[in-house]
Amino acid sequence: MTAKPLVAVTGASSGIGEATARAFSAAGHPVLMMARRIDRLEAMRLPSSISRQVDVRDRATLAAAVREAEARFGPVDMMFANAGVARLGDIGKQDPADWDEMIAINVNGVMNSVHAVMSGMMARRRGTLVMMSSIAGRKVYPDHTVYCGTKFFVHGVSESLREYLSAYDVRVIVISPGIIETEVLDGVKDPVTLANYKANKAAIGGGIGAEHVADLILDAYNLPQKALVQEICITPTRQKF
Ligand code: NDP
Repeated sequence: MTAKPLVAVTGASSGIGEATARAFSAAGHPVLMMARRIDRLEAMRLPSSISRQVDVRDRATLAAAVREAEARFGPVDMMFANAGVARLGDIGKQDPADWDEMIAINVNGVMNSVHAVMSGMMARRRGTLVMMSSIAGRKVYPDHTVYCGTKFFVHGVSESLREYLSAYDVRVIVISPGIIETEVLDGVKDPVTLANYKANKAAIGGGIGAEHVADLILDAYNLPQKALVQEICITPTRQKF
């Protein structure tokens, strides 16, 4: 059997990134796992994996991790630009440092992830970029102002990248989940926002498991290179908002 290509995941230490790293690993892919909590990555003990402490805001470190993994396993065939934070809060009262952090991670971090692999994919005329947006990249929600801005950015850039990269046979998939059970709410500091979010979530019976998102990404990736799922939007069935 031919060896499966290397895939790279940012934010692989928990939630959707972790589930996706596990799903691709179980499918036989070598995986480059990146996050700041290296202990969490190493504790997963995935076969044929490389764990690197990478803050996606640091373009050089991210690119170096990719080059190192490629030297061992061959080119990255799928980059999941997943790392993100949700500092949700009342925009009129929120510390702009929270805006800066979300923009640096959810916007610049995504572009740094794209940059690390895009030219190689263009040269090889194959590859898949999976861009983590959100249902909050399609519509706005209370207390999500800058978070929505970062995810609308991912949608916009992905549309343009998809158009540009189509001539190189490189696929761009946008992933837009609704409420998924992860650690994402740990990043919400505003107690009122957090209480409202949790009440809405409880009212619909909770979120769904990250493994469902991971399975969809793997299914979309496994289609032939000439077939592209442009966007995956997955929510709990009862999430009508
Ligand atoms: P988690 O908090 O469980 O995971 C976030 C991941 O991002 C962690 O692995 C974290 O690792 C990593 N991360 C955060 N900041 C950085 C950074 N500066 N550098 C490198 N890695 C970083 O939440 P989710 O799995 O839910 O979040 C993953 C993505 O999914 C995010 O982009 C989020 O916006 C998006 N999303 C989540 C939804 C949900 O309901 N859960 C819905 C829609 C979208 P570490 O801290 O170790 O660096």
